[in-house]
Amino acid sequence: MTDLGQIKEELATANRILAHHHVVDSFGHISVRHPENPNHFLMSRARAPACIVDEDIMEFTLDGQIVGKEVGKPYSERFIHGAILEARPDVNSVVHNHSPNVVPFTVTGRKMRPIMHMCAPIGIDIPNWDIATKFGHNTNLLVTNIDMGRDLAKTLGSRTVSLMRGHGSVVCGRSIREAVFTGIYMEINAEMLIKALQLGEVQYMHEEEVAANTRGRAGFTWERGWENWCREVNRPYRPKTWEMGPGFSRTDPIG
Ligand SMILES: [Zn+2]
Repeated sequence: MTDLGQIKEELATANRILAHHHVVDSFGHISVRHPENPNHFLMSRARAPACIVDEDIMEFTLDGQIVGKEVGKPYSERFIHGAILEARPDVNSVVHNHSPNVVPFTVTGRKMRPIMHMCAPIGIDIPNWDIATKFGHNTNLLVTNIDMGRDLAKTLGSRTVSLMRGHGSVVCGRSIREAVFTGIYMEINAEMLIKALQLGEVQYMHEEEVAANTRGRAGFTWERGWENWCREVNRPYRPKTWEMGPGFSRTDPIG
């Protein structure tokens, strides 16, 4: 299988894993930067993530134009992905979701912050992008053009995650596996945080604890989750060692 073939297979697998973990349902999507052309990205045609196969993957320019074969209708919110990949050369994969435990944090003053070490990658400072601030209340809340995508990317800044008011969130990663990992653990954090808030005052992770977890997190960590998640959705698991590049440590604090 070619590199491009493998990354399409991995992207289809990522869609199924995110659906299995309720990060996406019939809606929501994940993209990856094209392995040979950093100005293009790959994403499925508009289809429910749990149904996606390798042949559904299409290619786009960063401003959302279709490149090559149009195997089906594209997602109307593909501009989210292109705009973030355009603004962030350090990001290679973007998840957009409406995950149910995250949305309450987009419409209340309650701050999303990590409360458990596995959830540290979401970061301490999570903004909440409100489409109405720039585009008024005449939108349907969907990010359907590149201007909207760029405005969202501006709010995201150099962070890993941004909430989207009344809509959902975006999650970035240096790889598909990292973006999937963070997306899954953001939904888990949100669910646990809602429960903890019902019990009483919450002690959030300290900023330095979050930094220590993120610093030491290794490619090995994504692999451990990824192998298990591939098994859960009955998709082939291909070990990756290339993620042990700069920024990745071989020490794994998770144990
Ligand atoms: Zn959406």
